Amino acid sequence: MPLLKSWVASANSANHPFPLNNLPYGVFSTGEDEPRCGVAIGDMILDMAAAEAEGLIALTDYPLFDVPYWNDLMEEGPAVWAALRERLTALLSKGSKEQEAIEPLLVPMAEAVLHMPLVVSEYTDFYAGRQHAQNMGAILRGSPDLPANWLHIPIGYNGRASSVVVSGTPIHRPNGQTKAPDAEMPSFGPSKRLDIELEMGAIVGTGSEFGQPITVDEADAMIFGYVLLNDWSARDIQGWEYQPLGPFQGKAFGTSISPWIVTAAALEPFRAPTPPREKELLPYLSGSKDGLYDIELEVLMQPEGADRASVIARTNYSRMYYSAAEQLCHHAIGGCAMNAGDLLGSGTISGPERSEFGSLMELSWAGREPFTLETGETRGFIEDGDTLTLRGNARGDGYTVGFGDCVGQILPAKTWG
Ligand code: MN
Repeated sequence: MPLLKSWVASANSANHPFPLNNLPYGVFSTGEDEPRCGVAIGDMILDMAAAEAEGLIALTDYPLFDVPYWNDLMEEGPAVWAALRERLTALLSKGSKEQEAIEPLLVPMAEAVLHMPLVVSEYTDFYAGRQHAQNMGAILRGSPDLPANWLHIPIGYNGRASSVVVSGTPIHRPNGQTKAPDAEMPSFGPSKRLDIELEMGAIVGTGSEFGQPITVDEADAMIFGYVLLNDWSARDIQGWEYQPLGPFQGKAFGTSISPWIVTAAALEPFRAPTPPREKELLPYLSGSKDGLYDIELEVLMQPEGADRASVIARTNYSRMYYSAAEQLCHHAIGGCAMNAGDLLGSGTISGPERSEFGSLMELSWAGREPFTLETGETRGFIEDGDTLTLRGNARGDGYTVGFGDCVGQILPAKTWG
């Protein structure tokens, strides 16, 4: 499919992240206005609450968009999602009869503040990148061998929805308990091994019933869209606490997501297969569709005061071993109910080369081999004041489907008491 032409001129460039082919969903405000739903088109945001109030969008006989989240639309299900996408495409296409009515409802993105695009119901994080799992094994246990379950189960843990924040929200270095291998007693204080994890977040749009398993194909149809996700990680806290029940405080101080939900519909042309399975998956984990997407990903780092950011990693979402649909199916297979607004972190995305590693733990090999930024500074882990940015783009025939940056700056640890 080529670039779809819009009467919003800025949307018609091959490299712009928000052409008519994309139409991602966010929540915005300007000045004193209340945050409400908006759709990105080029450099503008279509005010969805206003479009609905004017009768230009009428999918239901009750309002959906004068709220600071997209969960109400998610709950309507795939037929309404498709109807909205069709209507937006018609309204914003070159030659649209409604251009005059819509034009005054566009807000320059430069004047808007972006907020969380959804209410996160619950947050689960997976560990589905094979290269990442092998790297972590090599670093932490001296062997890249995968755990015995890894090729059979999409491994995950239940995180906290309350820790998920929108791009731009500063993150304080967490305080916590750590223990050096040769120390007799643990100690307490700011994490010294603060890290990122480059991930995609899948957003569940329609739920499943408590007690009711689902298939991979059903799971695929339940996914509303995707965001970039930075699963900030305190490696020293995590290393002391994680056995035998998994991550806890090492992950609970913040998870950042990009501000625009890129719909599964917009990503449809970019479907990519999961890699060949070394061990055949059990039948309940097989689906009929390619479950990954060809999305180019980058990580940038900028120290405080530096005049530019350095790209520290480049990889692709199609590097993953398990798809979001397989993860969602596995999540529900024992009867766990899934809900609109559930967020599933993919797991850290790392490719085979060092330049493709999606965490600083891997890029600096646990701090033992620091890397150099364009400014000449070196890093093993994150220092106070550093800004980390995730970027994602799917490249089509003369157009780009972009996610908008997922940015976070690390501030010094808080004091209390
Ligand atoms: Mn993670």
